[in-house]
Amino acid sequence: MQTQLADFIRDTPEGVEAERILRSCVHCGFCLATCPTYQILGDELDSPRGRIYLMKQYLESGEVSEKTQLHLDRCLTCRNCETTCPSGVEYSKLLDIGRGLIEKQVPRSPLAAMQRYALRQVLPRPTLFSSLLALGHAARPFLPASLKSKLPAKQNSSSRPKGRHARHMLVLEGCVQPALAPNINAAAARLLDKIGISLVAADKAGCCGAVSYHLNAQDEGLDYMRRNIDAWWPLLEAGAEAIVMTASGCGVTVKEYGHYLQHDPAYAAKAARVSALTRDLSEVVLAEAEVLKSQFEPLPKPRARVAFHAPCTLQHGQKITGVVEALLTVAGFEVISVSESNLCCGSAGTYSILQPEISTQLRERKLGHLQARQPEVIATANIGCLTHLQSGTATPVRHWIELLDEV
Ligand code: SF4
Ligand code: SF4
Repeated sequence: MQTQLADFIRDTPEGVEAERILRSCVHCGFCLATCPTYQILGDELDSPRGRIYLMKQYLESGEVSEKTQLHLDRCLTCRNCETTCPSGVEYSKLLDIGRGLIEKQVPRSPLAAMQRYALRQVLPRPTLFSSLLALGHAARPFLPASLKSKLPAKQNSSSRPKGRHARHMLVLEGCVQPALAPNINAAAARLLDKIGISLVAADKAGCCGAVSYHLNAQDEGLDYMRRNIDAWWPLLEAGAEAIVMTASGCGVTVKEYGHYLQHDPAYAAKAARVSALTRDLSEVVLAEAEVLKSQFEPLPKPRARVAFHAPCTLQHGQKITGVVEALLTVAGFEVISVSESNLCCGSAGTYSILQPEISTQLRERKLGHLQARQPEVIATANIGCLTHLQSGTATPVRHWIELLDEV
């Protein structure tokens, strides 16, 4: 694609990157078929190619309207288009640039601005979030059914082994996960303990930065990233082998710290090392699969029928496919096939709150496929997908590590 970027952006680091990405798109349109918003809305401007055009138009003219912002807001950042694209267009990097710049030019209504601000204040703060969640649970009997279904059932925390192994890895606790599903990180710690690895949390680490960054408060997001690097660095220097992510949404972000902080001379090198040492939990367990295998008792029949929902942040963002399914199979579960497994469930960070109609349509479509063969349990790898899917079904939705932990 030919480009002629406007003066305001052309020679900036963002301009150089945006131009490179725009030029790699050949307009073929292969990405349209796999874009969930295009499938639902049927508007080219709600497709990857349409959004690329909108961003090109803006970067070439400097002119932008609420309409452009709306079509960019409707993108789930699922990155399905990146998996499909034959030209390797780095769509999500272009989207970050476009959204960040447009946010500064197109004012939001006071209500929308307040909603986005509230999400940035509450979600990355585990203490505040868990207090509000406790309030929600206390008020549950008085809530209307529509709100009740969105409030996940209360889960108590479970025991964690003490760090006893020489081999140890850092774990990012996450911001909403400890309150919503404390058993996930505990199950990860127990399972890794069985295979000789202790999980350690760094006291001062917190939100990965994705919430703020994807709400276009990009500087705030970068500050969260720097804070985590500062928290992890001394522990990495002291011998921690890796940084383990139990939520694929956090994992995809931390794996890209090196990209996000590439222009920060004080953090670029450290961020690149942190990203290189970051592993999704499934990658860590896969590397130890032989040790784990010897601990599973062979069974005359499968433990349970499981439908696995692969989060976009796992399959498209981190390009990890088939690993969780293989681990569940090794552990004796029957993993059933699921149609349209490449499509987003509609959770997508704060998308389910900001774009509830599209999000709900995608959830119903996804649940239809996941439940088509009557699984006893739905497994996934990201807390956002887990709570979103659970709000639409009575079938239990769990993190896959909880299933392995219970074997
Ligand atoms: S598939 Fe890739 S190259 Fe083709 S239109 Fe979409 S983004 Fe552009
Ligand atoms: S990231 Fe997902 S929703 Fe956004 S354009 Fe790509 S396929 Fe469509």
